[in-house]
Parts: sequence; C-alpha cells; structure tokens
Amino acid sequence: MKTVWDKIDKKKMKQLMDFSEDYKVFLDNAKTEREAVDESVKLARSAGFKEFREFKKLKVGDKVYFNNRGKSLALFVIGKDKMEDGMNILGAHIDSPRIDLKQNPLYEDNGLVLMDTHYYGGIKKYQWVARPLALHGVVCKKDGTTITLKLGEKDDEPILEISDLLIHLARDQMEKNGRKVVEGEDLNALTGSIPAKSKEEEKELVKKNILNILKEEYQIEEDDFISAELELVPSGKARDLGLDRSMIMGYGHDDRICAYTSLRALLESDRPQRTSVCILTDKEEIGSIGSTGAQSAFFENSVAELLNLSGEYNDLSLRHALQNSRMLSSDVSAAFDPNYPSVNEAKNAAYFGKGISFNKFTGQGGKSGSSDAPAEYVAKIRKIMDDNDVMFQFSELGRVDQGGGGTIAYVLANKNMDVIDAGIAVQNMHAPYETASKADIYEAYRAYKAFLKDMK
Ligand code: MN
Ligand code: MN
Repeated sequence: MKTVWDKIDKKKMKQLMDFSEDYKVFLDNAKTEREAVDESVKLARSAGFKEFREFKKLKVGDKVYFNNRGKSLALFVIGKDKMEDGMNILGAHIDSPRIDLKQNPLYEDNGLVLMDTHYYGGIKKYQWVARPLALHGVVCKKDGTTITLKLGEKDDEPILEISDLLIHLARDQMEKNGRKVVEGEDLNALTGSIPAKSKEEEKELVKKNILNILKEEYQIEEDDFISAELELVPSGKARDLGLDRSMIMGYGHDDRICAYTSLRALLESDRPQRTSVCILTDKEEIGSIGSTGAQSAFFENSVAELLNLSGEYNDLSLRHALQNSRMLSSDVSAAFDPNYPSVNEAKNAAYFGKGISFNKFTGQGGKSGSSDAPAEYVAKIRKIMDDNDVMFQFSELGRVDQGGGGTIAYVLANKNMDVIDAGIAVQNMHAPYETASKADIYEAYRAYKAFLKDMK
C-alpha cells in the first residue's frame, strides 16, 4: 500500500511535523465551538484579516471575516474575479460531541453534590465515564456580563467526573446492551463532598458549600446556570501517538481537524483569482440547524453584505454568486481499523496515510440523505489534486447498510453549488479521544490550498 510516508523527503517531513505541532496547539486551545472561533479569529487577525464592519470599501486581496454570535465564522479573501462569478469555499464544523450541563444542574445526594447533564451529539455514553472531565463554557449574567470558564485543564485545577459502576458489582450491568450500559440520565458529574459550616441543622450543606465556592471564585449564582452554556469535555492535551509519532490522539478531531487545515489554507490565500472562503460552522453534530448552524442565513447574508460593499448587490448577483461557487465540505471520515475490519468494504475504505479522503456521497441505506457530488465536478477535483501532487483517496463511510452519517455538504449544495465531501480519516470517531494520521492532516491542508488556487 503506497502512502504519503513512502515518498516523503526530509524537507516535507519537517513541514508535516511542524504543521502537526501547530494543529495540536489549536486543538488544545479550541475544545468548544466558542473557543474554536476565538482561536480562529486570533489566527486570522494576525494574518491580516479584519471584521466586516471595519471595511468601508472592498478591493482585491482584502481579508474579511464575519463572526456569528461567537460560535460560527465566515472568512473571505477577495479575489480578482467578480464574486458573482463564484467563490471557492472550504467548510468544516467546530462543534464536537460532549456532555452539556442542564439548565438546573446542581443537586445533593447522600452527601455528594452532582451536576445533571444532557449529552450533545452521537456518543457511546459508556466511553465518557470514569475519566477526567474539564468544564468549559460561558455563564451569561442578567447584568449583561459573561463569565468564561475553562476549568480542569491545568495541572493544579480540579476536574469533574462521571462515575462508573465497579466491575465487582456490575453483573447485571454487564448483561445489558451497549446502549443501556450507561444511560443518559445517569450521566451526572461528581462535583463536591464537603459540607458548608452551619450552626443549625440545615439540609443540603454540601450543595451550599459548592454554591459558596461558585459565588466566591467565579461570581456565579445558582440561577445563572439557566443562562449558561457549560460543556464537559475530556481534560488533557492532544498527544503524539505511535512510537514513530506518526499520529495524533486528541479530543475533537471531528471536525476541528478539517476546520484548522481549511483555515490555514485560507489564511495563506493571497489575491486569489476567485474569492476564497472558509466557513466554520456550529451545530453540525445535532443537524446543522439554528442560528449558528450551517442552515442559518448567516453565510448567505455575509455574501450579500460583501456584494453590497462592492456595489454589486442585487437579488440576482447573490444567487449567481452562490450557484457559481464550488465547495469542499470537509468533515472527518472513518479510517480503516484493523480491530474492526468487518464494517468496511476494503476497496472503498479510507486508510491512514493515504491522504485527503473524498466521499462522492455520504448518507445511509441507499445513499439516503446524501449530497451526491456531480461526476463532472469530481473529475475537476481529481485533476487539481493530480496537478498539485496531492495524495488523495475516495471512500465511503463503511459497508452498504452498516450505518452511515451526514455532513454539511447538502446544506450548501441546496443553494445549487457544486459540493463534494472531503476530509481526514479518523479512528474512534466521537470517542473522547480520536486518532488521526499526521500525513493525512498535512495532505488535506495541501489539498485545500490547491483547491482555493486552482478551482474554476
Ligand atoms: Mn463531523
Ligand atoms: Mn461527528
């Protein structure tokens, strides 16, 4: 099997390894959609990007971004061609499966304080117990201020945990099927066990103590959880995996791995022929809906604003700009796993090290729910990859009728543009820690750069 590693020279090896180091930093700093936006804005601004409202006029080479509620982003590098002639768009999502706190989370039970949760996205719940969890997110107060939390990442910070049943008493539990081994309402995070000092016989003193800590250290009152978005994510950093350091294990590769590689490609786009775009969207894991999901009017509105600022706006120019655009909808794909070979069909599986992975279609059970890329468009993609010496593979997400999944591809394709699913293959997708190949990460970044430069 030929892989990127077979034909790599010393120079490219260094570039690839350096790129992986940058990616690990991004991944560690971007464990939630909000953190991913903050981190991306930071990188964009240092690459010369400015927010839309800072512009009075637009010219070729201008670097503009739109920030939607701090949870999704659209970034543009204005090209030489009119926007009406179409844009080259990279899109990925920045939300990942996790465990969210409920709006009324805190309770005391037999001297322990716990926080109740509602998981986000498709997870095997049993994977999220008995492991250090960090609490990230925001608490929005009635007075308009926002408290940002990131607790449990530094060595001296406390973590939280969702307990698991000891094996010694798990005879009944071990008979249950995977769905029921750990159930959604049992995902309660252990939060404290010291009672507050009190002269009278008071109830729930342990909870009272936790509330005191929340107030003193974080200025958070119990009511404030109502207007909070707090996410439990695996504590810890992304790490090199393998004795040869060829892979990275980390939380949230899906889909920050495509988000980061797409963003880097866009940040390096300079006076392109067609306007270069990168969309980083939220809510993919729960259906791409809502104001910050890919289905929101946010992207279209951003394009309308840019056309308007260029003096080119009318209802038709917006439609033309969308329908003449081409897109790589980038999301992770399932990497072949020798421990579970039976779920794949070998000829159409994605393998570590074989480069960026394209899916002509996704969906499940008879391609249902898929955006099927037109063959003519696929041919153009192949040519660009070959012309730029980018290694790529075409795959499907598993065997026919084994399962499946969706991406944001159909959302943009519904605006009548050419879209193909592209991305990086990962193992243990949606587990607290996922695994990807450094070779594929670097090759995807190269693929995105080639697409932005050469797609017509
Ligand atoms: Mn994804
Ligand atoms: Mn996913």
